[in-house]
Amino acid sequence: MKQITVISGKGGTGKTTLVGSFAALAENKVIADCDVDAPDLHLLLHPEIIKKEEFKGLKVAVMDKTKCVECGSCEEACRFNAISVSDNASGYAVNPARCEGCGACVFVCEQEAITLKERVSGYAFVSKTKYGTMAHAELNIAEEASGKLVTVVRNNAQQVAEGEGCELILIDGAPGIGCPVIASLTGVDLALIVTEPTMSGLHDLERIMDVTRHFGIASVVCINKYDINEENSKRITEFCRQRGIEVVGNIPYDPVVTEAMVAGMPVVEFSEGKVSEAIKDVWKGINCC
Ligand code: SF4
Ligand code: SF4
Repeated sequence: MKQITVISGKGGTGKTTLVGSFAALAENKVIADCDVDAPDLHLLLHPEIIKKEEFKGLKVAVMDKTKCVECGSCEEACRFNAISVSDNASGYAVNPARCEGCGACVFVCEQEAITLKERVSGYAFVSKTKYGTMAHAELNIAEEASGKLVTVVRNNAQQVAEGEGCELILIDGAPGIGCPVIASLTGVDLALIVTEPTMSGLHDLERIMDVTRHFGIASVVCINKYDINEENSKRITEFCRQRGIEVVGNIPYDPVVTEAMVAGMPVVEFSEGKVSEAIKDVWKGINCC
């Protein structure tokens, strides 16, 4: 079974536009939306949830006020300023939104007044779409541990793919270069890096290429909106050539992409114009890799 992750060095490069179109073009696949901090693939693929599970990420400190003698040791020990005397003067309290679940307060409290409890940080879903089964997730506001949730999404996609006998897992990776991106890339066969010829495009591309190279993942590049700055597109192409990384396609700028988004459709289904043709060429290109 092949796994392809579509990534970008930063958000807003058109990554999800491409994945939505690939979902419409690819045969016999499972789709995995691993951009769990800001998922938006559902806006194009309209999943119907068939399975929902709680995701328990970081633990949270819970204080038993009946045991607390208000010594203040926990407040001193907490490096995240999650413990303070509450405004209503009812003694020390934990602010769950700040708590990182490190356990330092549990360690220092001689009264054993604090314990760590699991908390629901989000949800993982398996859904039906007209393009095939989709694994995706939602992280609650201000929650972290998105790398772990990405792994849950990928495991769900893998299970579905094995159960349905699929040949491909198509992954919409997280933007940037942090933990969720690495979790989106681990063990995949190919990374398609989507970039734009903006001022920061080359810098972002270089950073994400360093990540894929570090993890030994074969990569190819696609330049989105290449014609908004053809000089920068040439620089990106030359940079890729020097690094020995193939540019599998140049997608032109076209307002039809936004129109397709507004209509909630993959652009290759919405239009048969030049953008759709370019995306089809990219899809053919990565299938030859
Ligand atoms: S360390 Fe324990 S006893 Fe001291 S203030 Fe914190 S919860 Fe209360
Ligand atoms: S678990 Fe860590 S972050 Fe949470 S309140 Fe205790 S010391 Fe602070």
